[in-house]
Amino acid sequence: MSDTANTAFEQLCQFSRQTATLQSIEELLGWDERTMLPPSGGEFRAEQITCLSGLVHRRRTDPQVGRWLEELVDSPLAADPHSDTGATIRQIKRGYEKHIKLPQSLVEELARTAVLGQQAWTEARKNDNFASFQPLLERTYELKRRQAEAIGYATNPYDALLDDYEPDAKTADVQEVLTGLREQLAPFVAAIADSGRQANVEILRRNYPIDVQEAFGKQVAAAIGFDFQRGRLDVTHHPFCAGLGPDDCRITTRYDERNFPSAFFGILHEAGHGLYEQGLRKDQFGLPPGCYVSLGIHESQSRMWENAVGRSHAFWQYVFPQARKSFPGALPDVTLDEFYFAINDVRPSLIRVEADEATYNLHIVIRFELEQALLAGDLAVADLPGAWNDKYRDYLGIEPPHDADGVLQDIHWSAGLVGYFPTYSLGNLYAAQFFAQADLDLGDLDGQLARGEFAPLREWLCQKIHRQGECYTPSELVQRITGRPLSHEPLMDYLRGKLEPLYGI
Ligand code: ZN
Repeated sequence: MSDTANTAFEQLCQFSRQTATLQSIEELLGWDERTMLPPSGGEFRAEQITCLSGLVHRRRTDPQVGRWLEELVDSPLAADPHSDTGATIRQIKRGYEKHIKLPQSLVEELARTAVLGQQAWTEARKNDNFASFQPLLERTYELKRRQAEAIGYATNPYDALLDDYEPDAKTADVQEVLTGLREQLAPFVAAIADSGRQANVEILRRNYPIDVQEAFGKQVAAAIGFDFQRGRLDVTHHPFCAGLGPDDCRITTRYDERNFPSAFFGILHEAGHGLYEQGLRKDQFGLPPGCYVSLGIHESQSRMWENAVGRSHAFWQYVFPQARKSFPGALPDVTLDEFYFAINDVRPSLIRVEADEATYNLHIVIRFELEQALLAGDLAVADLPGAWNDKYRDYLGIEPPHDADGVLQDIHWSAGLVGYFPTYSLGNLYAAQFFAQADLDLGDLDGQLARGEFAPLREWLCQKIHRQGECYTPSELVQRITGRPLSHEPLMDYLRGKLEPLYGI
């Protein structure tokens, strides 16, 4: 192996690690903005973040990166695309080639429109006035079309945008799996609604003191393996997880005294993201083998701990006695089975973030179909609210009385995040397929969960997914772990297995 290739590789890695370190500072500023920042600090914070993201973009498109890559792409270091060195070269090249295609002027215009778009959206949502947001949304889609053209695509411009969040995913494949899911899910949800059975959700709306919720949530997060020596839990309006570095992962939640599931499952969800971050390889920080592979796979980790584990009967066999002790004012007359039914309540609702795990995916399908139509120009932004309401009626059997509870409910499009929504459903699909495989591989998974033994599942995820970094693409990873491509069937099997007995259907 030539010395020049080795030297180029070392220099490229050192440079990339420094870029990642700068990015981690940007992330830290973002975490601080959403948890701690005094109200008037916003303007200067935006300046700090813009300054850092400019530095990061310049480094990502530095011509020196191109020269190092030229030395490396045909070297033996790149021969095995799944090795640490091969994956590093492949992924850095991929990012570099993508970033240099975007003209600086377009990058800046996208950033500026995202800031203005979010401001306009906040006002529009508050006043239930879609028309006031319409011009910025039109501008956003115009810019996203230009972005797709600049990056390039084979057949569908949506591919170019989806790729930012789910690398190598193709719209047609996602479409196929989500359509398969929708066709089975819509009648299934309707059958649940027609079953005449309803969980007693009042038991979840009793008095759950916030300090106890916090202590209880932390205790359960630690039990599943979230390491509080290498992470924190704080309060925010819109919960998120920020992996700031190898030993510093921040998760957040929000508390409501009269709503137990909101914070509890929120903490489990973010702790699931956190376990992925804490499971990444430290020695590869800032390099592809030490990075998460896609948003969909990230979401599969959070959804698995939140739902497949956290809403299972086995898990509550272990946790419920502790919950009763912690919340003597709320749960003394409640049985485990009653509680289990309540946390698995399914009913069509208007708001995506409050949706149960069955109807949730229909909310995503609606957004996925609409954003494709908007990008392709098949749907005018002016006609979006009507199209939104039609789809809610068709797939969920309900219609938003106001745009604020309808088309204006999500921040994503206003922030220029087009192609992001499907990763939420991909997360649910991957989670179900991985969980079914873990069940096969681990033998007595249910028994382990019921005994509070979470290490075997966590270790399985760590070895199969976390420590693989970006050495495989998401679709290669699914194929390797489960022996088949992603399908809607494991998720439908999982939902049927859980909900049919509860609803007697
Ligand atoms: Zn998530």
